[in-house]
This record gives sequence, C-alpha cells and structure tokens, in this order.
Amino acid sequence: MDLLKTIAAMRHFRKSASGKRIALVPTMGALHAGHLALMEAARKQAETVVVSVFVNPTQFGPTEDFARYPRDLAADTAKCESVGVSAVFAPESSEMYSNEASTTVKVAGVTEGLCGASRPIHFAGVATIVSKLFNIVAPDVAIFGQKDYQQLVTIRRLVTDLDFPVEIVAHPTVREPDGLAMSSRNAYLSPDDRRAAPRIFASLQSVRAIFRAGERRQSQLQRTLVEALHEVTDFQVEYAEIREQDSLRAVERPSRPIALVAGRLGQTRLIDNLALDE
Ligand code: AMP
Repeated sequence: MDLLKTIAAMRHFRKSASGKRIALVPTMGALHAGHLALMEAARKQAETVVVSVFVNPTQFGPTEDFARYPRDLAADTAKCESVGVSAVFAPESSEMYSNEASTTVKVAGVTEGLCGASRPIHFAGVATIVSKLFNIVAPDVAIFGQKDYQQLVTIRRLVTDLDFPVEIVAHPTVREPDGLAMSSRNAYLSPDDRRAAPRIFASLQSVRAIFRAGERRQSQLQRTLVEALHEVTDFQVEYAEIREQDSLRAVERPSRPIALVAGRLGQTRLIDNLALDE
C-alpha cells in the first residue's frame, strides 16, 4: 500500500493505475469499523481503492472541534492496509489550501436546514474538499456513508450539477451492537453519555414502528420522534425532523420519509437518521 502526501504523488499514482477502475473513500481519519465497511464495499466496486485521510479545516466552524479532532495516521494506514486498500492520500492542510485559495463550492437547497442551520459553513467546506479530491484522485466511483445523510444528498447534487464523472455509492450506517451509529466522535462520550447514546437510535426505530403501523402524517411522525428523544437522558436535541429522502424537503405526507436527528450529549454532537420505509 502506498502512502501519498502530495497532490503530485497522488496524480502520479492515478496515472500508473490508468485503465483500472478506481474507487475513492474520503475520510477524516480516526478510522473505525464504519469506515472499514466503506473500504470493503469500495473493493467490490473497483480494482484500486484510494482512501483519503484529511481533517478538512474549511468544514469546521470557529467554535467546533477541529483542533481536538482525533488524529492517528499510523493506526489509520495500518487499518487501510488490513482491508486491501491500494493507496492512502494524506496531505497536509498547506498542500490542499494555499494562502491565496479563494474558491468555494456552495450547494444551495439541500444544505439549508438540518445540520446546515447550526453549521452554516460546513457543507460549503465539504463540497469544496470533495470537488478537490475528485479532481486530484479522478475516481470512477466514490463511497459515502448514509450516517451523514445530508452530506450524501449534497454530494449527489454536487456531482449532478457540476458533471463530475463519478458514480456515488451510498453505504448503510454501521452501528455498535447496541445500535449507536459508529462515529469518530463517540470517543469523546463520558461513560454515562455512552450508556444513554443508543436511545437515540431506539427513538428513530420507534418512529419507524408507527410508520410501519400505517402513520403517514409528517407532524405525527415528528411528534413521536421528539417525544422519544425527550426520554434520552441529558440529550439536548438540535433538530428532530421527518423529511423526504431524495430532496430533504419537509412535506405533509412524505412518500419516502427519513427521520433525522442531531443533538448534544454532554459536549459531544451526535447525528443519526433512519429511512422509515427501510
Ligand atoms: P468522516 O471520517 O466522519 O468524515 O466519515 C468518512 C465517511 O465515512 C463518510 O462518508 C461517512 O458518512 C462515513 N461514515 C462515518 N461513520 C459511518 C458509519 N457509522 N457507518 C457508515 N458510514 C460511516
């Protein structure tokens, strides 16, 4: 497996793999079993798998956890190697953003509301870095987790609107045995908060249960979600919403609804979602 630190080295690797189908898995490192599942899915999609490990400064707000975000490149590269990744692209910030950088990719519509409400610059940072990665790595296919659902919808919009020749593959959320969605940020949780955290997924499941029993009204589905989340000890809800899966629109009777949640347990911001027709 190659460890590539510069754009030039990544482009050279890409050239030497020309003719092969190449898959990209973008990550911020601190890799867990959720990320590894994306890499395994990537291996099924393509002969050559590239994983990017880059804690992207432009998607963090000034009061967010950029400085303390967990970083361990040696452990990350060992994990990538164990699942048959061909190359890890792990540039420094200065390699990706020159001091003169002045271009931002902004996706409207689907980035408004939900996480976009409390993280106003987040999705522009994501769309910009993903555009750069697509230009540098030139993958045929890229894998994104459903865990970050609004991000996934944003990337699909970006690829359609800017004609990136990249197929986007969504991977289901990988969970701990108790249901908590795996996240690099789970490491921040206190033991008490870690015990409470699986109730977030249980709340999403309770909404799915009433959907399966025939409830279709967005207002009722949302009320059930909010009430279930009130029972999660110390969870400060940021949003709890029912939206249409493809467009993320809020409509009275969504045809394919998805429940989406964000909030804080202690200092840790957690997100999760569940498609109700799954
Ligand atoms: P991150 O390193 O948090 O930026 O995530 C990198 C990629 O892994 C994104 O496409 C995430 O959606 C995906 N991902 C993170 N956690 C999970 C999970 N628990 N299950 C599935 N995909 C995940």
